[in-house]
Amino acid sequence: MGGRLAGKTAIVTGAGSGIGRATAVRFAQEGASVIAAGLSEGLEDTAELCRATGATAIAVVADVSRAGSGEAILEAATRIPSCPNVLVNNVGIAGTTAVYDTTDDEFDRIVETNLKSILRISRPFLRLCRSQKMAASIVNISSVQGMLGFPNNASYAATKAGVIGLSRQMAHDCAAFDVRVNVVAPGIIETPRTEARLRDNAEFRKYSVQSTPLRRAGHADEVAAACLFLASDEASFITGQVLAVDGGASATVFRV
Ligand code: NAP
Repeated sequence: MGGRLAGKTAIVTGAGSGIGRATAVRFAQEGASVIAAGLSEGLEDTAELCRATGATAIAVVADVSRAGSGEAILEAATRIPSCPNVLVNNVGIAGTTAVYDTTDDEFDRIVETNLKSILRISRPFLRLCRSQKMAASIVNISSVQGMLGFPNNASYAATKAGVIGLSRQMAHDCAAFDVRVNVVAPGIIETPRTEARLRDNAEFRKYSVQSTPLRRAGHADEVAAACLFLASDEASFITGQVLAVDGGASATVFRV
C-alpha cells in the first residue's frame, strides 16, 4: 500500500472520536497500520473505518490515566506484525474551573489524563525504539490554551503548557536515537467535545468565531493533516516544534 505513511505503524490514543478518530483514519488512508487506543465503544468503529481503507487496524481499550496503560497498549500492539514507529498522544479532557475554584482532585485527574499519560505511553514506546534501533515520530496534542489564557480552565491550561514543555524535553532526549517529537496545538475544533456548545451556546459560538482570524471553528480533519505531516518523513528535520492549527487565534491579540 502506498501513501505518505507507507510502511509505518501508528498508535493513536483517544481514537474513539474527534481528532483522534480523524487522525487514525487519515493515517490509514496514507498507508499506516493503526492501533486505535482509548476508552470508548467508538474505538471499534474507528478501527473498522481504518480497515475500510485497506489498512491493518486494531482497537485497544486502555485508560491512559492508569499506571501500566502504556505497557498494555504496547503489548496489544504486538497483534500487528510490524513494530509501532509513530505515536500520537491525543487523549485530553477539559476542566471547567477558574484557578481559585480548582480542587486538588480535579487538578490531579486532569494531570493524570492529559500529561502523565504521555509519559506513561512514551516511556515503553521509546524503550522499544531504542532496543530495535528504530527511527520514530511522536506527535503530542496540546492546545492554544497551552500558550494563551482562557477563562475557567486552569487545570487544562496547565497540562497543555506541560505538554509543550515535556515535548521539547523529549525532542532533546530522543534525537540521539532518531526519534522526533513535535506538538500540534489546536484552536477551537468542532468535535463531539465541542459540537453541542458550538451549536447551542451562542456566546461560545460568537467567541470562537471572533477569536479566530479565519472566522470559524476548525475541523478534526484539519488537525489530522498536521499530525500526518509531522508523523511523516516529510518532517524529517523537524523536532521540538509546536504547530498551531487554530485559524490564526494564537497569532493575534485582535478581538472584535
Ligand atoms: P474528544 O472528542 O472528547 O475525544 C477524546 C477521546 O479520548 C475520546 O474518544 C475519549 O473516549 C478518549 N479518552 C478520554 N479519556 C481517556 C482516557 N483516560 N484513556 C483513554 N482514552 C480517553 O476530544 P477532541 O476534541 O477530539 O480532543 C482531542 C485532543 O485535542 C485533546 O487532547 C484535546 O485537549 C485537544 N484539543 C481539542 C480542541 C477542540 O476544540 N476540540 C481544542 C484544543 C485541543 P470517550 O469518548 O470514551 O470518553
